[in-house]
This record gives sequence, C-alpha cells and structure tokens, in this order.
Amino acid sequence: MVYADNAATTRLDAEAFEAMKPWLLTEYGNASQLYAFARGPKKALTKARQTIAECIHANPEEIFFTSGGTESDNWVIKGSAFSDSDQNATITSAIEHHAVLHACAAIERLGYPVAYLTPTTEGKITPAALREIITPGTRLVSVMYANNEIGTIQPTRELCAVAHENRARFHTDAVQAVGHVAIDVQELGVDFLSASAHKFNGPKGIGFLYKRAGTELCPFMDGGAQEKQQRAGTENVAAIVGMAVALQNNCRQLAQNQKHIRELEASLLSELTNAGIPFVRNGGNDTLPGLISLSFAGVSGEAIMHRLDLMGICVSTGSACDSVNTQVSHVLNAIRLPEAYAKGTVRISLGKNNTAEDAAAIAAALKQIIKP
Ligand code: PLP
Repeated sequence: MVYADNAATTRLDAEAFEAMKPWLLTEYGNASQLYAFARGPKKALTKARQTIAECIHANPEEIFFTSGGTESDNWVIKGSAFSDSDQNATITSAIEHHAVLHACAAIERLGYPVAYLTPTTEGKITPAALREIITPGTRLVSVMYANNEIGTIQPTRELCAVAHENRARFHTDAVQAVGHVAIDVQELGVDFLSASAHKFNGPKGIGFLYKRAGTELCPFMDGGAQEKQQRAGTENVAAIVGMAVALQNNCRQLAQNQKHIRELEASLLSELTNAGIPFVRNGGNDTLPGLISLSFAGVSGEAIMHRLDLMGICVSTGSACDSVNTQVSHVLNAIRLPEAYAKGTVRISLGKNNTAEDAAAIAAALKQIIKP
C-alpha cells in the first residue's frame, strides 16, 4: 500500500506510541486527584505543555489541550463571539476548513455577523483584501495558516498585523502546518492558533489551542476545573504525552523532512510533465511541503481516486472530512477553478514516511490512468 493522504491523517510516530503506553497501562491515575498516584500524570502534563510551547515559541501557560483541530477552532470562533456582548463582526475566509466555516455559520444564526474574504485564484488571502473589509467593528479575524485542500500558505504575519492595526484579535487554524513548517507565535503575533496531533504523527482525538496570555476567550467546554478552568474534562494524559513527543520529533527533524518531501514532490511532478500528462497544480508557488493538488481536465477526480485505490494507492479527491461529498469543494469553487478541472482534482499529500519508490509508484499509476 502507498499511503499518500497525509493531510487527512498521519501514521503515529513509534516513539510517541512507546511514550504513551505507561499512561494507559500502569500510571493511569486522574491528574486532578490529590494522592501520590496522580503526581506522575500531573508531571507528565506539565512536561508535555512545556515541550509543545517550546516547539511553537509560546509560554506553557498559553497552551490549552483540546480534543483536536475542530474543537480548537470552535472554541475560538464561538468563545470569542460569546464573550462579546456588542456582537462585533468576525472576518474569516471562504477557504477555511468546515470546523471554522460551520462554527461561523452557527454564530451567524445567533445574530453575530460574519464576513468572508475571497482568495486569489492561487488561494491566497491578501492583506489588501482584509484591509478593504475590516472595520472598527471587527472583533476577530480568522484565517488558516495553510489550506488543507490546495496547500497554499497564507501571509499570516501580515494579515495578523492588519487585524491588530484595527484592534481586532487574530486566529489562525494551523492544523495542516504545525509539525511541518516552522511556527513561531511570537514572530507571527497571532492571538490564537489551533493544532491537531494526528496531522503531525501524533494520536487522533487530541490537539491544542495556543491562546496568547491576557487574551479574553470564554470557555467552550463547561464542567470541571481542568486547564485553569478554561477547558473542562479529564485530561487524556497518554494522548497528550504522545502529541508532545510526536511534535518534538517532527520539529527536530523539520529541515530534513521538508527536504525529503520536497524532493519526492519534485520527482513526482517531473515524471508527469516528462510523460506529457496535462495537469494544473493548484495553490500557487508557496505551498505546504508534499501537499499536491492536481487537476486533470475532463477526467473525474473520484474515478482517479478509485482507480488508484485499486492499485493500492490512497489519495483524496478533496478534503478528507468531505469524502462523502462528490460536489466540487468550496475551496476549488472559491479559487474559481474552471469546473472541468475542478471535477478532475485529486489531492496527493506526501509525508515523512513516504519513499522515492512511493512517488515513482504514484507517478506510474497516474500515467496509466491519464493518457497524454
Ligand atoms: N482544520 C484543518 C485545516 C484541517 O485540515 C482539519 C482536518 O482535516 C481540521 C481543522 C480538523 O481537525 P481535527 O481532525 O483534529 O478535528
């Protein structure tokens, strides 16, 4: 099997798996209890928070554990709205993940206004576009760090600066970026950042929200006093430990992983070009390493995906969360990709575990399916 859907999820890092085991089998105490048996789990949470904070240049107090990207995004969009009695506006983009877009739709139904930025045809959200619609009545701007379908990396620092010039807070959904490109929250200046462990070789169902110290956000999960009373629920110690180890490993190997993945990406694309296969690569020049969105005119992306599946190759037609939906995705619509190309789109997402043989196998399979 060739797994080339790393934007959907990734294989768990073997060291992360080993690090998780004791917290499930022997040291399974509830970190909130006061007896000695709870001290180990409590210390493990402290260490994991420290590790994660270091990886993104934050302070440990600014890291809040959540169940993943969806929860972190919902927390910011809804928590920010619900802590604002004036019902000021949220600005987001038309190419966000549904975790942001559907959370925005939910606050809109409750009367909180939301405005949507249109990307360029390469999928970029420009600071100029934000400047045009931001007003003194904007409370929050939420623009993803990098797109999950086409890979475009956004000018996050510049967008954040525009938000701050207008006294608005800035959130970035960095679920596809954390552990794959260098992230420094100080340099970016962002107030909130969402991340999800299973996208960076950590376990599923765990993630975190970076919340800049002193930034107001009302809690999203009400209940116990965990996470400084900001996010209730017994901590998933094993998953949190696994997430920290996976992130640390990916961050330590960032440059070498990026080089390896970029080489695979280049060889796959040159194989297709040399074979005379006509394709369009979406997302412009500044994309996430290994995230390759390709469109073939007049061929069904779904048919390509199924043919590849029969050859033992996993790719996606749109975003994984959309896999039941055969409609053209909201992202491809927003970048105004002509319908003939949009319907013939596949997303190949390579990761650190992919090999040169994998890239060659994908290219060979595509050459068989799509004739020049
Ligand atoms: N945001 C982006 C950009 C994503 O790609 C995803 C998952 O595909 C999510 C949010 C949701 O993350 P999770 O699967 O951890 O809920």
